[in-house]
Amino acid sequence: ENAPSRTPAHRSNQSLVDLDRQHLIHPVTSFRGHEAHGARVLASGDGMWLTDIEGKKVLDAFAGLWCVNVGYGQESIVEVAMEQMRRLPYATGYFHFGSEPAILLADKLASLAPEGLDHVYFTLGGSDAVDSAIRYITHYFNAIGKPEKKQFIALEWGYHGSSSNGAGLTALANFHRGFDLPRPWQHHIASPYPYRHPEGHDDAAVIASTVAAIEAKVAELGADKVAAFCCEPIQGSGGVIVPPRGWLKAIRETCDRLGILMLVDEVITGFGRTGPMFACDDEGVSPDFLTLAKGLTAGYAPMGAVLMADHVYQSIADSAPAALPVGHGFTYSGHPVSAAVGLEVIRLYENGLLENGKKTGKRFDHHLDRIRAHPLVGDTRGRGLLGAIELVSNKETKAGFAPELDIAGRLSQLTWENDVIVRCFANAVIGFAPALCCSENEMDLIFERVERSLDQLLDMPDVRQAL
Ligand code: PMP
Repeated sequence: ENAPSRTPAHRSNQSLVDLDRQHLIHPVTSFRGHEAHGARVLASGDGMWLTDIEGKKVLDAFAGLWCVNVGYGQESIVEVAMEQMRRLPYATGYFHFGSEPAILLADKLASLAPEGLDHVYFTLGGSDAVDSAIRYITHYFNAIGKPEKKQFIALEWGYHGSSSNGAGLTALANFHRGFDLPRPWQHHIASPYPYRHPEGHDDAAVIASTVAAIEAKVAELGADKVAAFCCEPIQGSGGVIVPPRGWLKAIRETCDRLGILMLVDEVITGFGRTGPMFACDDEGVSPDFLTLAKGLTAGYAPMGAVLMADHVYQSIADSAPAALPVGHGFTYSGHPVSAAVGLEVIRLYENGLLENGKKTGKRFDHHLDRIRAHPLVGDTRGRGLLGAIELVSNKETKAGFAPELDIAGRLSQLTWENDVIVRCFANAVIGFAPALCCSENEMDLIFERVERSLDQLLDMPDVRQAL
């Protein structure tokens, strides 16, 4: 009678799908659309592979939701989680308490992160990491006696999570529609989207246009009113938009010149996804705030983090009497099991996975280059193991497809039937983010299956007609 309770073995697969329809609200999903579609229930995973409850085995080229960067079934992570759960499943960070894994992980992150980011606040994921950063930035400007500096600037196509604050910095219509966003203090400027930029072939022009757009927005709002500029080094959920090299560094210089803080959201790009440990490292950039999640625990337990620059920390620390708390905190901040998982996951990155990711990243580049010749492909882009293919109906004009053709829905179905998982964005972009453990053979197989799906899409009469 002490056996753990489990779903009864006789629960049929169909009844699971029915129960899901009745009770489970899925993230960023149309309620009626999901009822019609039904859930694809996943049952187990191993390395790059997932198996669903029907026994269907698929190659996961998206690492869950760009998070399972170590692959599935890493036993050493299971062991440290179990060990930590047995010894101490929970320790609050309130009232000056703490736990060894949270302290060691904070130290590890401070040592890995760009210079100056010495202070770590742990969250449960990326959304609350961004939300926490926004709250700390607000608190900071009040603390230093500049309470009028409260306006935030972010990029079109940006994604910064689903908290009430972060979803407004996000610039994707689905996250605003029906939620009364963005707020009046949230502003957006054009994305450095080379493929769709009028001077996209000229890196310097793309960089200069973002710099000019920040300057113009700050001039419009007033330099004394703007708190921060917030961006992803590579825009993920907007369709894997890769700015030219040198772009992030130019933004850092611009923020410094204009006296505004820089918040870099590396929830996707962190932990080797683009090659180096952090995308900021590529350009020697150190932001004032850095948000992390996903790869931090590789999806084995929920956790995110906000890294705060020392100068910000010291200003907040000096501003208030020692007895007054900074009123921001979560019950599960620094959860010891998640922190123990994070330490083990980082050990795996440092002991071979980052290197393997760089090697397989070259194979990924090779396939991206090759697939550009496909009749449906307008653009390919990527860095490290993060990349995308953008489909167009006309390579010359770069025109997309009519929404009625539902290219994303069809591709998502075709790739599933071909036993590969990729991310199909509404604007006919296919996103890739395979785990860093991906082998070159598995990368070849991903592209074999995606290419087959593209050929099948091209064979559909209404798609062919749209070209
Ligand atoms: N920021 C970025 C850049 C993200 O990609 C995401 C998630 N895709 C988030 C924030 C939100 O993270 P979470 O879903 O863990 O709340």
